[in-house]
Amino acid sequence: MSLPDRRGYFGSFGGRFVPETLIPALYELEKAYKEISHTRDFKRRLDYFLSEYAGRPTPLYFAERLSEYLGFNVFLKREDLLHTGAHKINNTLGQILLALEMGKKRIIAETGAGQHGVATATVCARFGLKCVVYMGREDMKRQELNVFRMRLLGAEVVPVDTGAKTLKEATSQAIRDWVSNVRDTFYIIGSVVGPHPYPMMVRDFQSVIGREARTQFRKITGKRLPDYLVACVGGGSNAMGLFYPFYKDEKVKMIGVEAAGSGLNNMHAASLCRGSAGVLHGAMTMLLQDKDGQVLNAHSIAAGLDYPGVGPEHAFLKETKRAEYVTVSDKQALKGLSVLSRLEGIIPALESAHAVGFLLKMRRRFKKNTNVIMCLSGRGDKDMHTVKDALV
Ligand SMILES: *Cc1c(COP(=O)(O)O)cnc(C)c1O
Repeated sequence: MSLPDRRGYFGSFGGRFVPETLIPALYELEKAYKEISHTRDFKRRLDYFLSEYAGRPTPLYFAERLSEYLGFNVFLKREDLLHTGAHKINNTLGQILLALEMGKKRIIAETGAGQHGVATATVCARFGLKCVVYMGREDMKRQELNVFRMRLLGAEVVPVDTGAKTLKEATSQAIRDWVSNVRDTFYIIGSVVGPHPYPMMVRDFQSVIGREARTQFRKITGKRLPDYLVACVGGGSNAMGLFYPFYKDEKVKMIGVEAAGSGLNNMHAASLCRGSAGVLHGAMTMLLQDKDGQVLNAHSIAAGLDYPGVGPEHAFLKETKRAEYVTVSDKQALKGLSVLSRLEGIIPALESAHAVGFLLKMRRRFKKNTNVIMCLSGRGDKDMHTVKDALV
């Protein structure tokens, strides 16, 4: 059976928990997605931009020195080499092509760290669509450079001053905008989160990661399948993108790495490992909340993992035990960043460094011939200030 079901559920997670006025827009989007995205024309157009504009296929790189150090084989899926420096462009390209087909004239998005805002502003510039990005005032201060990037790309960045002035409030504001402008506006969501059909649609757009990795792995090793897939989990899109094409191969173990921040008893972002079920961003999922259901602030040194919820399909994969979820702290991620930099000459994004941090924990614990594919979701340039402050 393929998931989500017709109502957008992955088991008991997912659905559409949005204001009544948005339901028709979600139906319209679902219908358009189903009808358009599978046509040969759409696929050809998306493939064209993924390869010529974004730089696909990305290599699956055998990290020889890292493997030697760890005692098992690691293959890195190099999403860090894509245009704009991370996997997010796979999704924003897919969604904007769909928006164009649907005749939408205006794009809105919300952003926390600014990465999704930049990826959205980038494709809006490329296709000449008006772009409005909602961002909490607090996040704007913390991510000044990304605000500047978005504006340089021609986007309007709207500060959100309610509540804690971060991602949660920016999301509410984007939804409010969508309610009032639903006719001509397309809402680009940045991860496998939000109401149906977003988790499915974003997963499908990101699945190019796993499809390529599968073929490349066979070509490099002569083996059909790896033993493990490892990826960091914020909202969960790079992980779903890697996992999904291996879903039916039950021998392949899938491991999602959440941010343990400064510790699981302190500030963290481990929605799956330490959260509970509830509604966030239009879907039933796992999230960090207090006894009264108030959403708690997440914390991670990696801005892209600093999100109190997670995509509903991950909640389902955890519940059914098809995937396993672990945590890696800020400190361990920094160690991962240093090790990958020194051994392979690749400085990963702090998000991706969490996946490396997990591999370090498995050093000499996996058998010698174990093959691991790790999603290197982004490059580290954006994080150099943070890393410098943390290491000095
Ligand atoms: C945004 C981001 C993430 C987290 O998002 P997911 O949806 O969980 O993939 C991970 N890595 C990088 C480099 C990012 O920019």
